Amino acid sequence: MDIYNDLADLNLPFLLSPFYDTIPIMKTVPAVKIAAAVSAALLIVFLAVFFSNPGKNASGGASGESPATAQTSVPSITAPRAAPQSADPDREAFVEDFWRWIFSEAAIPDRIAGTVAASMLENPSFMMELLFVLQSGYYTHVLVDKQHALPLDYSPDDLVSLTAAGSFRITRNDLQLRASAASALEEMAAVAAADGVILTAASAYRSAARQTEIFAWQVQTFGREAAERQSARPGHSQHQLGTVVDFYPIEDSFAETPQSRWLVRNASRFGWSLSFPDGYEHITGYRFEPWHYRYIGRDLAAFIDTYFEGIQQFALQFIQAWQEHSS
Ligand SMILES: [Zn+2]
Repeated sequence: MDIYNDLADLNLPFLLSPFYDTIPIMKTVPAVKIAAAVSAALLIVFLAVFFSNPGKNASGGASGESPATAQTSVPSITAPRAAPQSADPDREAFVEDFWRWIFSEAAIPDRIAGTVAASMLENPSFMMELLFVLQSGYYTHVLVDKQHALPLDYSPDDLVSLTAAGSFRITRNDLQLRASAASALEEMAAVAAADGVILTAASAYRSAARQTEIFAWQVQTFGREAAERQSARPGHSQHQLGTVVDFYPIEDSFAETPQSRWLVRNASRFGWSLSFPDGYEHITGYRFEPWHYRYIGRDLAAFIDTYFEGIQQFALQFIQAWQEHSS
């Protein structure tokens, strides 16, 4: 792609110097430096392309050109100019085209797509927030749902066993989470406990092999249709990431507990997100699971609350579409 040739012309250390200061690991890990450089450069190139020629992008989409063609046909790097006024037809066309380009693929409602597109144009911090999200661990933002599977041999490399020594309780002794998720759980549970709410973890990491057994059992017990609504096929479970906790009790009544009410109000402050909210089965593929929370980090949790109405699935679909178009 032409866009990669243009990267060679960019002064990456200059562009990234602010990130070196704010993210300590970038100072020490070359691979992370390079990944950060490429991510930042791609984002900057993308913005420069769009801001420098919104009319061309809009007409490209309107005439039915493929998104990839539209992107590669305007590779020149120029300084971003101020976003046009809202009355500018070029701006209207740009926003409309942007919806088609990213959001049609991400399958996000027009209302949210409009918020995000306008934020990209008018709110400089949007791109910075997205950049931080993309630079967080793969497992924080990877889309795992009925259409998108993890490799069956994917397993976290830093699983730790949960114990009842801290602020939360456990229903079994064999629960495991990624180290970052385990510490984030303890951090959240400590604050919940101070509020008089004791959280109990009932399920956490599951391997693809274990998920195979569970799905087969679900089909046998409840029938295929019910199993598809409440259980994932192997590779398609967020639990395989090692960043998900099912809180006790794993049943519909959990939604009425003080634990659930506390989590709904506070979880995102600690980087936890309800994956399958009420009324979104047609979006997530799963019925309401008030007990199932995924650790996605504070940056992404805030990003979801700010731009995606708190719906994790929409944000992850957007990020997935974004990454497909940026690579
Ligand atoms: Zn679950």
